[in-house]
Amino acid sequence: MTASTRTHLSPALKQATPVVVDYAAGSWIYGTDGNRYLDFTTGIGVTSTGHCHPRVVEAAREQVGKIIHAQYTTVMHKPLLALTEKLGDFLPDGFDSVFYANSGSEAVEASIRLARMATGRPNIVAFHGGFHGRTVAAASLTTAGTKFRSGFSPIMGGVHIAPFPYAFRYGWDMDTAVAFALQELDYLLATMSSPADTAAFIIEPVLGDGGYLPTPPEFLEGIRRRADEHGIVLIVDEVQAGVGRTGKFWGHEHSAAKPDIVITAKGLASGFPISAIAASTELMSKAWPGSQGGTYGGNAVAAAAAVATLDVVRDEGLVENAAKQGAVLLDGLKALKEQYSAIGDARGLGLMQALEFVDENGKPDAAAAARVQQTAISEGLLLLTCGALGNVVRVIPALVVTDDEMAEGLDAIGRTL
Ligand code: PLP
Repeated sequence: MTASTRTHLSPALKQATPVVVDYAAGSWIYGTDGNRYLDFTTGIGVTSTGHCHPRVVEAAREQVGKIIHAQYTTVMHKPLLALTEKLGDFLPDGFDSVFYANSGSEAVEASIRLARMATGRPNIVAFHGGFHGRTVAAASLTTAGTKFRSGFSPIMGGVHIAPFPYAFRYGWDMDTAVAFALQELDYLLATMSSPADTAAFIIEPVLGDGGYLPTPPEFLEGIRRRADEHGIVLIVDEVQAGVGRTGKFWGHEHSAAKPDIVITAKGLASGFPISAIAASTELMSKAWPGSQGGTYGGNAVAAAAAVATLDVVRDEGLVENAAKQGAVLLDGLKALKEQYSAIGDARGLGLMQALEFVDENGKPDAAAAARVQQTAISEGLLLLTCGALGNVVRVIPALVVTDDEMAEGLDAIGRTL
């Protein structure tokens, strides 16, 4: 043995807050600094049932003592079978086949592979401001800021980015923005990515890292119509919006459009890493055995935690709570917007709400968003920033957030501003 090296976290892990967690429960994080913080970040939309929900903790604890890992293409385990059956209670009709991975990015990759295998076509159309992950294929679909793509090109080929109806930034009403974006999508299909070459459209029900812009129902429905017309697979990335966060179990349920592939992760297991894609058996059978997956996919402990999470979501009425508390949050944020000219827009769906900051000329003000995040810490509140332009503050409470916690959070945002 030589003298030991003093190791540090990589600069890529630069923290946005100084908080180091000692322990956490429900909507609260207790720091090693002796302070408690109201957590309106939920590990970026992950701890759906709050931190360390007793039923999730118990399910995981029990599973750890039985089996931690069995590779699912070799030996199956009970929690994954139970989760697959349970997801049937929540998935849209006809989504009878489920595949598992560990993270959102891997599930995005799996959906792209599936769409390409199913159609024999190369291209994927994603939408401006979308975030689909950091692996190379997922990053190539991601335009929620340049930092996810630049510096490590070339990224995956065959990707085309279509406009998203970002009405606030265009300064348009939503109908005009949707009509424009659909017209541009048609133009893209006519000029850049012919339907004969286009395997899939991929879109989030609410742009997540793109700044909590809800996808207008008419836009998703317009994409669906084009997918039907041209035999293009519609992938809805519910990694952040799914599992009740928007006030419906799936974010796409706010529209009449039904996807061909649904991707879920984050809130599915309250913090344990697991992700899934779901589709019809007919579509899913286009991926031949062994063409998808990885060593750790569909981990037994994570699957047990996911089953418990789905039970808690149902038994505690968390989808309904997300709708109710989301409305309170949006009202509160809109009231603050009336008070502060630095807030250009207050918007979101359910418990995915955001404030977009602008300077006196109406231009994006990333410094203001960063100041709000930093100042909120001293008010005992954790918030996230984001958006392609960095000028958005995201508010993402746990689905278990109570009336009192919501009031306290809104108060803290007010004091911060
Ligand atoms: N898709 C969406 C909509 C996301 O919000 C994220 C992560 O934030 C991902 C995909 C990537 O998931 P992961 O970070 O688990 O790879």
